[in-house]
This record gives sequence, C-alpha cells and structure tokens, in this order.
Amino acid sequence: MTGVQTGSVTSLGLADGQVGGNDVADFNIERVCQNFPILREKVYGKQLVYLDSAATSQKPQGVIDAMSRFLLKKNANVHRGVHHLAERATEAYEGARVKAQRFLNAEHANEIVFVRGATEAINLVAQSYGKKHVGEEDEVLITAMEHHSNIVPWQMLCEQKNARLRVAPINDNGELLLDEFERLIGRKTKLVAVTHVSNVLGTINPIRHIVEMAHARGARVLVDGAQAVPHLKIDVQALGCDFYVFSGHKMYGPTGIGVLYGRSELLEEMPPYQGGGDMILSVSFEKTVYNVPPYKFEAGTPNMAGAVGLGAAIDFLAGLEHEALAAHEKEVLAYGTRMLSAVPGLRLVGTAHAKASVLSFVLDGVHPHDIGTILDREGVAIRTGHHCAQPLMSRLDIPATARASLGCYNTRQDIDALVAGLDQVRELFQ
Ligand code: PLP
Repeated sequence: MTGVQTGSVTSLGLADGQVGGNDVADFNIERVCQNFPILREKVYGKQLVYLDSAATSQKPQGVIDAMSRFLLKKNANVHRGVHHLAERATEAYEGARVKAQRFLNAEHANEIVFVRGATEAINLVAQSYGKKHVGEEDEVLITAMEHHSNIVPWQMLCEQKNARLRVAPINDNGELLLDEFERLIGRKTKLVAVTHVSNVLGTINPIRHIVEMAHARGARVLVDGAQAVPHLKIDVQALGCDFYVFSGHKMYGPTGIGVLYGRSELLEEMPPYQGGGDMILSVSFEKTVYNVPPYKFEAGTPNMAGAVGLGAAIDFLAGLEHEALAAHEKEVLAYGTRMLSAVPGLRLVGTAHAKASVLSFVLDGVHPHDIGTILDREGVAIRTGHHCAQPLMSRLDIPATARASLGCYNTRQDIDALVAGLDQVRELFQ
C-alpha cells in the first residue's frame, strides 16, 4: 500500500519490532504499512510507491527503535568486557543469534555466523571451506541465474585452485533444467552453489531436490537465500543444505549484517577466513589458537546494533503470520503478472511455475533506464539494469530489464500505479 495514504501513522506499541501474531493474523495491510514510516514519503510531490524491495527492503519502526534502544541503553563492545554495559550488549548480540537460529530452524546457535551480508558469507565459504576442499581439476557447480555474489567468489576460488566452474542451464521461462543439473554433478564436483530465489526472475528453485542430488554424489551445497528469506519459511534442517546465507537488509532489517548458516561439523573443521580479535583463544608470536565457531569466523568488533536490528526484523516477520503473508504476496504477484501481461509491447522476463515476488520486464522500443526514470517522476521506484546478473542477461539475450519487486507492504494499488506510469512511458515513446 505504498501508493495509498494510510492516515495517521502511529506506532503499534509493540516491543522490538513485533507486530503481534494474532493482531495481523488476517494480514491487515494497513497495519502492516503503518510499521514503515518511509512509506509516507512523497517523491516529486507524488506519494511514494516502493517497488524495489529485492534491492533493499524498507525498515519497520520496530527495527529502527530496537537499534536506537541498543545504542541508547546497551552500547559497549561485546564478549570482552566485565562491566554491566558489556554484559547487556553481549546479551543483546547473542540474543539476536538465537533469533536467527530459530528463524532458520538451525539445530544449534553456534551454526549462525554473523557477517556483513550474503556476499561476505559466500566469500567466507569459498575462501575457507572451498580453499580447503576444492583442489586442482575439481569442480564447483552454479546455475545460469546466479547473482554476481554467487559467481565471482567461486570464479576466484577456481582461479586460485585451478579448478573448474560449471554452470547449470535454464529454460526460457527461467527454470533450472534439472536433468542437466544432475548430469553436471560428477565425481569432481565438490560444491554446488545455488540461489533459492532468483533476484531477476523470481524463480524458486527446488532446493531439497537439488541437495538430494548433490549429496548423493558427495558434493556440499550452499544456498543463497538473499531473496528467499523475506518471502519463504526457511528450515535449513528440512532443506538439508550445508550452508545457507542471507542479508538482513532484504528482509526488513538493517544493512551491514547478514548470516552464514553452516552445519556444525563443517564450521568446526573449516579454517578461519579473517584473523584478528574475537576469533582467537590465545595468541603468541609463535602460534595462535583459534576460537570455536561461530566466533572463529567473526574477527574484529562485530556489527552489534546491526545484529540487534536483524533480530527485530526476525521478530517483525514472525509477527506476520506466515501463511497470511505468503497468501497476500502471492495474490499481489498474480495481479501484477496479469496487469503487466496486458500492457501492449510488454514482455515479462521470468515466468517460472514456482515464483516469488519479482516482476522483471522489457518494453518494446524503450530502454529499461528510460522506463525507470519516467516512473520515478511519478513516484514509482523500480530498478533497472542487469541486476548484478550479467551472465543471465547474456543467456536471455537482453542487456537489461526493468524490475518491480514486492515486499509485505505492496498492494494492488501499487501495481495500478506502476501500470499507469507505464502507460505514460508508452505515450512518450510512441
Ligand atoms: N544473492 C542474491 C540473489 C541477491 O539478490 C543479492 C543482492 O541483490 C545478493 C546475493 C547479495 O546481497 P548483499 O549485497 O546484501 O551481500
């Protein structure tokens, strides 16, 4: 409902970002929107319609408040202090880790490593697990729909180790060709790295099936969950994956904080990624003894306020009854698909059967950047370009797309505003 005034916006008076499960059990969109003060902003005198959540989501008041409360009342460096504030800060930081554990249904809290985001998490796995286990002529398998963050770290690893990066193909709807995928997992495949949800196509990949295929051949699986966590209920134990990564800022949390989930036994045997404070048990000039996971991978002072904000974002999502949220997002996506399909000259890019909240498209005779610029003047924020997926653009034989992506706060009215803006684009270019 970013394009609709929701009247006076008041805090719901709930603690730490919680919306309250029963309060919005029927998904009261007005109340959900009231949590996001930025949605009241005007752009060029028009009501903001925010359709760029796949790039970064907006932040609910509860997240903003939790971070500011931490800075006002609890700020001190974690783990090392004996004084009271240090204890409060450590409790808040470690509390956020437990929230992340529950959010992913990880078995243990020490399987949750705080990182800057999905990108850092993938680099960590590539340079720690990958460096140890991928050797000359081994293979890492990714897919044609990966974000650069799930391509480049593997390319770097393969260059370092003289290993081979293999790419599983997709069909024209943007779905993985699973037979081809299976054929590409061979004796030499040490790692499979695959996105849960594509940031360009919205495709939801069948992770459980992929994990089964990979594990049957002895390969480990990393899942890039950056676009999945705001929309899907994640259960890493049910998925069976070895690593799962995500960024806080795409799921209503702050920037600069994210999670690497890794199965205990893997994190135990992995070498550290970076050296410094907090990742050690003891240091002498002769030898350093490393800390246990997850601390072994959290060198230096961590993003404490960020972790607390992520915890509040998890509370916020937990407060939106998941089935109701999923039904709402599915409905808006279906409406958007229908409405955009009816725009003359518009072609949707990414029409997978299983799809999450992304609507990428191209419009005959108009460059996506022009679409984005004209829509912006109408207050409609979308993203245009290659979306950090240049190899996917090459596969689709297009230089760029326009992309509207949806969050929990978007409605049919937002889609109507998008379509009205596109009518203006078409008028200008015809
Ligand atoms: N993976 C996917 C699928 C993404 O969409 C993104 C960001 O757009 C990333 C990884 C990288 O996330 P971050 O920049 O937060 O590290």
